[in-house]
Amino acid sequence: MKAKTCEQLGIYSRKLTVPGAVTTEQLLSEVKKLNEDDAIDGILVQLPLPKHVNKHAILEGVDPRKDVDGFHSHNLGSLLLGHETLVACTPLGVMELLQRSGVKIEGANAVVLGRSDIVGKPMALLLMHANATVTICHSATRDIGAHCRRADILIAAMGVAEFVKADMVKPGAVVVDVGVNRVSDPAAKNGSRLVGDVDFAAVQPIAGQITPNPGGVGPMTIAMLMQNTVRAAEGIN
Ligand code: NAP
Repeated sequence: MKAKTCEQLGIYSRKLTVPGAVTTEQLLSEVKKLNEDDAIDGILVQLPLPKHVNKHAILEGVDPRKDVDGFHSHNLGSLLLGHETLVACTPLGVMELLQRSGVKIEGANAVVLGRSDIVGKPMALLLMHANATVTICHSATRDIGAHCRRADILIAAMGVAEFVKADMVKPGAVVVDVGVNRVSDPAAKNGSRLVGDVDFAAVQPIAGQITPNPGGVGPMTIAMLMQNTVRAAEGIN
């Protein structure tokens, strides 16, 4: 999808596939070659990496100016400080969705379910910078439902199929479903189908606005990747 979108937009893209047995050093050397290649403005390391590869070393090996995924500590640090920087595409896409849908973020109670480095944490920072009052929930949070019911904006990014039920949502709340989960379904084509972290059918009648899933956050993530690439090419960082 990413390569296809690049093609549609006229952005040159190159996909490098390495053997699964690749070492951290070998992969780092590929990343370094791209860092030094003037034809390349953006580098994306597709996760997950094999377990034996040091993910941290690889992500830190990407030149922060070409880090279109916004995963480098330099860019995450800049985001924390509220500086203009390359920001992780999924949370950036969620902000774009909220802003373009006319959602009032300032002063809103925003609840983010999940605290990963690539979604939950940057999401919470972006919402805080936009003047929401932010609560982050995770696996040790007591009574998640109570937090969710206070949310004017509820962002679900846990990776737990249909976790958010109707009784967890405040009437009129804005619900954004980031989750992508494969569940078995004997009636489906390949015996399985993708669902989000929100029980869409049950929550939709209660929510004021809700993202479809699939088709909501996913395409926005790709759009933001393209935007970050253009910004990197223009040297914003
Ligand atoms: P992750 O790294 O696995 O993080 C999941 C987070 O959810 C963790 O902070 C975890 O808490 C929390 N969590 C998991 N189960 C929980 C539970 N039962 N109760 C409370 N908290 C729970 O996942 P991720 O990379 O952030 O991705 C989250 C979801 O978004 C996944 O479904 C992923 O496929 C999807 N995603 C979609 C896109 C897109 O473009 N649409 C992009 C990225 C990710 P702890 O920290 O305590 O473990």
